[in-house]
Amino acid sequence: MDISVVIPLYNEEESLPELSAWIERVMQANGFTYEVIFVDDGSTDRSLEVIRGLAAGNPNIHAVSFSRNYGKSPALNTGFRRAKGDVVITMDADLQDSPDEIPELYRMITRDGYDLVSGWKKKRYDPLSKTIPTKLFNATARKVSGIKNLHDFNCGLKAYRNAVVKHIEVYGDMHRYIPYLAKNAGYRKIGEKVVQHQARKYGRTKFGLDRFINGYLDLGTLWFQSKFGVKPMHIFGLMGSLMFLIGFLAVLVVLVLKIVSMNSDTYHFYLTKSVYFYLSLASMIMGLQFFLSGFIGELIIRNSPERNTYLIAEEI
Ligand code: UDP
Ligand code: MG
Repeated sequence: MDISVVIPLYNEEESLPELSAWIERVMQANGFTYEVIFVDDGSTDRSLEVIRGLAAGNPNIHAVSFSRNYGKSPALNTGFRRAKGDVVITMDADLQDSPDEIPELYRMITRDGYDLVSGWKKKRYDPLSKTIPTKLFNATARKVSGIKNLHDFNCGLKAYRNAVVKHIEVYGDMHRYIPYLAKNAGYRKIGEKVVQHQARKYGRTKFGLDRFINGYLDLGTLWFQSKFGVKPMHIFGLMGSLMFLIGFLAVLVVLVLKIVSMNSDTYHFYLTKSVYFYLSLASMIMGLQFFLSGFIGELIIRNSPERNTYLIAEEI
């Protein structure tokens, strides 16, 4: 099978018939063998019934339906587990992404050898309140992930070599960083294609402004994981040791002051009046905490099934 199209959707009943007909048209015109996997993310409208009707009329259409709304990432992950095509294409269900891009995306994966091609909505049809924070967000993501050539991390329209989707796990809200996940998994040939974008035709967006806060937090998590995920002691051990050292030096200062004052008749040094006393207490306790966090992290990793999985590119 050439192509699997994975479509996460949440309450998109109006768009589905049009989208599915459009995809079918593109696939037939190009002679692709394909499947469409709709992942219904717990829709409360008639989306699932609409999909049932579509599937009845076209054997290439399949669907999975969640019992409640879990989010776009879990929906994508579920679709990825089921995808059988050589190239896997994801797109939003709201008709903002155009199926006409599929043939060129397919070609970039199969001919140009890309592992992942991300769409770039160069000309966007979204409100300003979304496009400006998005610019900032993408700049940060580029910097942190080190994938310098991507302008639009969170574009719903993307194409993957099948192996890529089988080796990444999209959870929480991590769909915003799939290129980063792919890079961390060892897939480095990541490209971009300018794609057509349209204003939402039916329904409304499923994400609010909290997307930006959560987006940044997730980026922090990913960065931390990719840097210290399998060696937490390298960061916690270092911070712990530094704190402990500061605490220890502060203790020395306090001790010296005390001894000096004991040998003098007029000067009385009270431990609890010294800033060094509190500094030493706080730093030593925090240092110990950091150190223990690192150590416990290491113990957890020793038991993780992931600790020794590497992506092997070639064996000779
Ligand atoms: N979506 C989903 N689960 C959710 C939220 C969104 O499957 O909890 C789907 C949604 O139906 C659409 C895609 O993810 O197909 C992108 O969502 P949306 O168009 O609302 O995002 P925007 O275009 O505003 O970034
Ligand atoms: Mg949309």
